[in-house]
Amino acid sequence: MTSYADLGIRPVINAAAQLTRLGGSLMPEPVIAAMAAAAHQFVDMEELERAVSARIAALTRNEACTVTAGAAAGLVVSAAACMTRGDVAAIRRLPDTTGLRNEIVVFRTQRVGYDQALRVAGARLVEVGNMVPGPLPEELAAAINERTAAVCFFAGLHLASGSLPLAQVVAVAHAAGVPVIVDAAAQLPPVENLWRFTDLGADLVVFSGGKSLCGPQSAGLVLGRRQWVEYARQANAPRYGPARPAKVSKEELMGMLAAVEWYMSLDHAAIHAGWEAQVRRMVEGLQGLPGVIAERVPLNEAGQPVPRAAVRFGPGCALRTEQVVAALRSGNPVIEVLATELGDGIYLNPMTLKPGEEQLIVARLREILENPPRD
Ligand SMILES: *Cc1c(COP(=O)(O)O)cnc(C)c1O
Repeated sequence: MTSYADLGIRPVINAAAQLTRLGGSLMPEPVIAAMAAAAHQFVDMEELERAVSARIAALTRNEACTVTAGAAAGLVVSAAACMTRGDVAAIRRLPDTTGLRNEIVVFRTQRVGYDQALRVAGARLVEVGNMVPGPLPEELAAAINERTAAVCFFAGLHLASGSLPLAQVVAVAHAAGVPVIVDAAAQLPPVENLWRFTDLGADLVVFSGGKSLCGPQSAGLVLGRRQWVEYARQANAPRYGPARPAKVSKEELMGMLAAVEWYMSLDHAAIHAGWEAQVRRMVEGLQGLPGVIAERVPLNEAGQPVPRAAVRFGPGCALRTEQVVAALRSGNPVIEVLATELGDGIYLNPMTLKPGEEQLIVARLREILENPPRD
């Protein structure tokens, strides 16, 4: 069997985030075992998808679930659900939306690249709001008309500015008879978010399976109201429709269920304490370097309450951010980090670190910053 090393692929210490380009997250043993066990047997895939989804819905305190090939595929089937509302012939015609409600309202400040998934299903995006101040509920109401299929809300503290609170979005949309989709792909932890958005009235809530849930990288969940999820299932693989190129395997279905069971069984407070300890060790280990300021910050890149170490390179530091990032990337193992928004330093995220990797990062950073490469 060929290994990563045989291919010349260097291992990555991931201090950046649960990023698709770095492999998402690492599956725990129960997920790997569930996938391996599933590989030995043919099953009826529709029957399995329903059974797995029913379990996941119950575990996550939702009425219903459908398992998709990632959160982006979850947005595709959610958009399709809201435009076709169970009309199977209309699903087969997508992305041709002739005769259908095909507009999805989004907040201008929440335009993330992932909203292309809504357009893949055939939807047209209608923007509302500006940065400062955010829109009034009346402005959202005015953007909704007889062509509106849904409002899509992208959750996360980092996207809140310029939008409305989700409860208000739901109130305005529901008053107009329109469902609300929430993209919560990266909004775990806290674990309560698995039911918090549906409790706030959202109809379809999308999560990545390959981020904090540590399921298969190419799996995801659509959770929510029974009727809307059923419409989403109609548009989901293995059925013909917009998600047929994004099918979910029997191994991924069983892996996703094992991942949700695993995640619900975790001691989240203990995990959080572990992250705090790793951040503390990184912050302490990086004190005393000329021109370098290392400190704890309370949120991660997706606005989740996960602490990170921010390491900023001031005028007294010999290296700039790009040089440090390149030096971290050039080693073996590779160390991946995210630059700060201002480009004046880097963040070190504990969520994706194995125990002890924080010390390797400190050692490597000290080596780079104490002996800056000359050229
Ligand atoms: C990661 C992410 C997605 C895509 O999730 P996949 O599971 O990789 O398809 C969509 N939306 C947001 C906001 C994300 O952070």
